[in-house]
Amino acid sequence: MEALNENEKFCVPPGGESGQKIRLSGLDKNELEGLMETLGEKKFRAGQVFSWLYTKNAVSFDEMSDIKKELRQKLNECAIITDVKIKTKQISTDGTLKYLLEYKDGNTAECVLMRFDNRANLTACVSSQIGCAMGCKFCATGQRGIIRNLEPYEILEQILTIQRDTGLKVTNVVFMGQGEPFNNYKNMMRAIELINSCLTIGIRRITVSTCGIVPKIYDVSNEDLVPTLAISLHAPNSELRAQIMPVEKRYNIEELKKALKFYTEKTGKRVTLEYVLIGKLTDTKECAAELAHFMKDLKCNVNLIPYNPVEIKNDGNFKDSTLPVFKKPDKKDIMKFKYILEASGKKVTVRLERGADIDAACGQLKGKVEG
Ligand code: SAH
Ligand code: SF4
Repeated sequence: MEALNENEKFCVPPGGESGQKIRLSGLDKNELEGLMETLGEKKFRAGQVFSWLYTKNAVSFDEMSDIKKELRQKLNECAIITDVKIKTKQISTDGTLKYLLEYKDGNTAECVLMRFDNRANLTACVSSQIGCAMGCKFCATGQRGIIRNLEPYEILEQILTIQRDTGLKVTNVVFMGQGEPFNNYKNMMRAIELINSCLTIGIRRITVSTCGIVPKIYDVSNEDLVPTLAISLHAPNSELRAQIMPVEKRYNIEELKKALKFYTEKTGKRVTLEYVLIGKLTDTKECAAELAHFMKDLKCNVNLIPYNPVEIKNDGNFKDSTLPVFKKPDKKDIMKFKYILEASGKKVTVRLERGADIDAACGQLKGKVEG
C-alpha cells in the first residue's frame, strides 16, 4: 500500500480497508446514499454529492458550495474524488483532443474527444482495456498484447476527465479506443450503466465496437440496456479476413453474421459494419461487390475507414515481428468502393480522419507518451 499522509491515517471508510481513502468517482446514487448513512448524514446529501460529481464535474470537495462545511471536511478526511490523472494532453489541428490517462497502478490508456463542425455532438472515444489480445495485423493496439482490463470507474473516468478539463458535456460515447470491449464484458456493461445513469447519456448514444466475439453478441442482445453495436468486419470473406484478423479463425464470418441477425431481430436496432480500406488489399471492386452481397439481408449501415498508417517498430516489444506493410487507399478507389456499396441501398459513410497528427485516429492508440 502507498504511504498515507496525515489526513488519511485515521479514517475507516465504509466497506473499505482501514486507513485508505474511499474513491467517490464511479459510485452510483445508491452507493453514495450508503456512504452518507455510514457517515451519519441524511440521505439527501447523496443527491448533492452526486450532482457535484457527475453534473458539475467537481475536482475538489471545497467547491461543493451547497454542502455544509462539516460534511465537506469529513469528505476531505476520508474520501477522494478520483485517483486518475492526466499524464499528457494533445490538441490536433482539427480540434480533436487526446488525453493519456494514468491509472492508480501507473498504467496508461488514451481517450479522445472528437468535435465535428456543424454538429452539436461531442463524442468521446474510450478505451476498455490496456492493450488488446486480438492481434489484428493493421492495428497498433493489437501489437501491444493485453496488459489488463479497465475497471468500470476507469472507463467512466475517461469521460469525466474530458468534461472536467473542457467544461463541456459529452453527448455520445464510442468504445473504440484501446481494447476489445467484449473481452472485458462485465466491466463494460457496468461502465455503460454508469455512463447512462450518472452522466445521463442515452443508451442510443453509446456505441460498442467489437472485432466479433460471437457469444458476447448474443449476450449483449439479451441485456436490458443494449448499446448500439459496431462490428469490425474489414473483409467480405473468411479467407481475406483471416489474413488480417486472427479472430476469424475462432469465430468465422458466417457465425458472425448469424449473431448480428439475432441482434437486429431481438433489439430492432441496426448494426454498423466498420470496414478498413487497405490499399490494393481490401479496397478492390471485387471486395466491394462481395461486401454488398454480405449486407443484403442484414439491417445495417457501413462505415468505411481509410487505413491509417501505424508505425510498427520491430524493436522486439511486439508479439509479431513479421507484420505486413499496408498502404493507404487511393482517393478514387475509396469513391469507387463507396459507389458500388451505395447501389445496394445501404447507408454508406466514409469516416473522417480525426486527430491523425497526434496519433489519435483509429488504430493509432498504443498507450504511450511518445507517438
Ligand atoms: N477492438 C474493437 C474496438 C476498437 S475500435 C474493435 O476492433 O472493433 C477501433 C476501430 O479502428 C476498429 O474498427 C478497428 O478495426 C479500426 N482500426 C484499427 N487499426 C486501424 C488502422 N490502422 N486504420 C484504420 N482503422 C483501424
Ligand atoms: Fe484489438 Fe480492435 Fe485493434 Fe483488433 S482492431 S487488435 S480487436 S483493438
